[in-house]
Amino acid sequence: MRLAAISDVHSNLAALEAVLRDLHKRNPEEVVFTGDAVGYGPRPNEATALVAAECSALVAGNHDWALLGLAEPAYFNPAAKAAIEWTGKVLADRTRSVLAGLPLRATCVAGEVLLVHSTPTEPEEWRYISGTAAALPEFEKFQERLCIIGHSHTPFIAELTEDGTFRAYSERAPYITSSRYIINAGSVGQPRDHDPRAAYVLIDGDSIEVVRVAYDIGRTQREMQEAALPEGLIERLADGY
Ligand code: ZN
Repeated sequence: MRLAAISDVHSNLAALEAVLRDLHKRNPEEVVFTGDAVGYGPRPNEATALVAAECSALVAGNHDWALLGLAEPAYFNPAAKAAIEWTGKVLADRTRSVLAGLPLRATCVAGEVLLVHSTPTEPEEWRYISGTAAALPEFEKFQERLCIIGHSHTPFIAELTEDGTFRAYSERAPYITSSRYIINAGSVGQPRDHDPRAAYVLIDGDSIEVVRVAYDIGRTQREMQEAALPEGLIERLADGY
């Protein structure tokens, strides 16, 4: 399997372009997307178009749903809500129809891999699997061998071996075809694990890797300033949190 997974792009075009440049060098057979093309960042239309053009399987995230009026924005924090409102004003019809076409779950690699933004069951509840310990009970909740998620902006790899051994990894794991995995692809556009570089996941032969890619954070910050997006959202990109 040579599969790349990107997630939580959040309208950060500079980060997405850097990730795609890195990813194309590694030549995966398939690129998939686990939700949140928009929200927070400055270039929702371009980022969504690029995600749609590059990915063979895609699912919606809570920010994508909020833009469509499907997820209740009430539980968004004030900065996130302000960014959703700004995005709604600049969203092209074409972007809206791309977002409206995203399912909540999708499978790829001949049904072997499940894609959801939040959790394998009731993805529309937008619950968080906050780390590898919380991932263990989720293995009972899907049939596919792998489940790739996003949502928390913190990458991890959780493995359940054939004999029931549970293992957790933060950056790199062996890829064993008899094991099952829950993988959080991290975030392209707003990492929150104190590493400001964009993140994506690559499953390649016998390894699963969380790949980090440096990008022009200043460019995205300038674009956000021009759009008058909340200062806290602009600053946090440099902190990776
Ligand atoms: Zn997100």
